[in-house]
Amino acid sequence: MSGRSEADLVIVGAGAAGLAAGLAARAGGLDVVIVEAAGRIGGRALTDKTGLPSGPYDIGCHWMHDASENPLAALALSHRKALRNQPHPDGVPRWLAMRGAVMDAATRADCAAYYLRCFTALEEAGAAGADRVGAEILDTSSPYYPLFRGWAGAIYSVPPERISTGDIARQMETPENWPLEHGYGAMIAEILGDQPVTLDCPVRRIDRAGKHIRVETAQGTIEADDVILAVSSTVLAEGAIAIEPGLPADVLSAIEAVPLGHAERVGIALTERLDGIGDQAPGHILTRNGDQIGLMIHEFGRAELTGYLSGDLARDLGRAGKEAAFAFLRDALKEVFGAGIEKRITGWVASQWSGDPLIRGAYSHAVPGRAHLRPRLAEPVEERLHLAGEATHPTRFASAHGAYMSGLRAVGHVMARRNRTGLADRPVPGA
Ligand SMILES: Cc1cc2nc3c(=O)[nH]c(=O)nc-3n(C[C@H](O)[C@H](O)[C@H](O)COP(=O)(O)OP(=O)(O)OC[C@H]3O[C@@H](n4cnc5c(N)ncnc54)[C@H](O)[C@@H]3O)c2cc1C
Repeated sequence: MSGRSEADLVIVGAGAAGLAAGLAARAGGLDVVIVEAAGRIGGRALTDKTGLPSGPYDIGCHWMHDASENPLAALALSHRKALRNQPHPDGVPRWLAMRGAVMDAATRADCAAYYLRCFTALEEAGAAGADRVGAEILDTSSPYYPLFRGWAGAIYSVPPERISTGDIARQMETPENWPLEHGYGAMIAEILGDQPVTLDCPVRRIDRAGKHIRVETAQGTIEADDVILAVSSTVLAEGAIAIEPGLPADVLSAIEAVPLGHAERVGIALTERLDGIGDQAPGHILTRNGDQIGLMIHEFGRAELTGYLSGDLARDLGRAGKEAAFAFLRDALKEVFGAGIEKRITGWVASQWSGDPLIRGAYSHAVPGRAHLRPRLAEPVEERLHLAGEATHPTRFASAHGAYMSGLRAVGHVMARRNRTGLADRPVPGA
């Protein structure tokens, strides 16, 4: 921050939303300070470049969902990033193991048909205008329900008993999902991160009572005309940043209506690929204890496995620590492939989003019955205070590109206000 005490705009949080807002505001000629509590940029966009001998590994966002309508996909293409076009593995597991045994093709097809019935029922309930609890409309007596329960948790960040069908109906997504070979997190850091950000600078209090908003940070106080708060909905809901006067009641209710659910990624590199399983094979495991794991096998042709953990399991392991998440996946693999698999592991990495006090979960979901409150977050809190972040996008929430777009939207509100009030005519320091 280097002694800064004034700015046109302070942006709190340097995830995809905050970084996008920073670029847009600077391009518009504003004097901007971005303050980030962590010692790095990116937030939930993070690629680990050293942990796995098999290659760079996304700890957070990985799939460029919605690719043909995703502005980050356009940016990746313009920077000639290597990517793969693959339908998101949301339906048919190409490999399935239940309680220690690998299932045959007929069982996989049966399981896939059940998944399809579940997804269709959830979508139809939402499309019919109902905001119901997901589990109420599913056949929970199916032997595949424990598998679906975990997989739905991965997609929506909560298990069916906490899914809002109204939120599902709002979410817009095309079926294109393109993972980037060198990492989505790395791409976001490279393309959006080329701007000044003050790291290790948590914001503790925002005082919006006076003529200027006062942003109190660990490195001093900055006075600004406008503030964009681009932290996660759960960080805000749990009051990690004191805001005075407090947020209006409708904004608070909307924030509380879209908390983060839980998901963690564990990557394991192997000495060699698993026999008889092709590249990019989505697989599912139901452990002997009844836990579900989404697997991505041999992504980019690598001798590598991703275990995707969700729901309460992810919450507990994410809080217990990375070793616990790794040990869980390793033991689940031993159930299916035998104890010998352990000797073939050459490296591992794991996320810990639920245990990170600066994030506190994975991605947002609406509490059943309250999905209609989400769009309030896309409006200015009041004239000078704006929210950004994935949870604030009315239709592209829970994604990195939704976060990016929310940052641009917030800057649009700032610019419009400055034009309305004549603030735009103020000389820009250093211009
Ligand atoms: C396991 C996992 C898998 C995912 N997979 C995908 C995927 O495949 N595709 C996809 O599109 N999306 C995916 N996502 C979601 C995507 O990563 C997020 O939606 C997106 O990165 C959120 O960006 P954001 O800017 O809204 O928030 P964040 O990335 O959370 O950024 C908020 C920033 O605010 C900072 N902060 C917090 N408190 C303070 C404070 N007091 N002062 C200053 N700074 C503060 C934080 O440190 C953080 O850097 C995934 C997420 C997870 C966790």
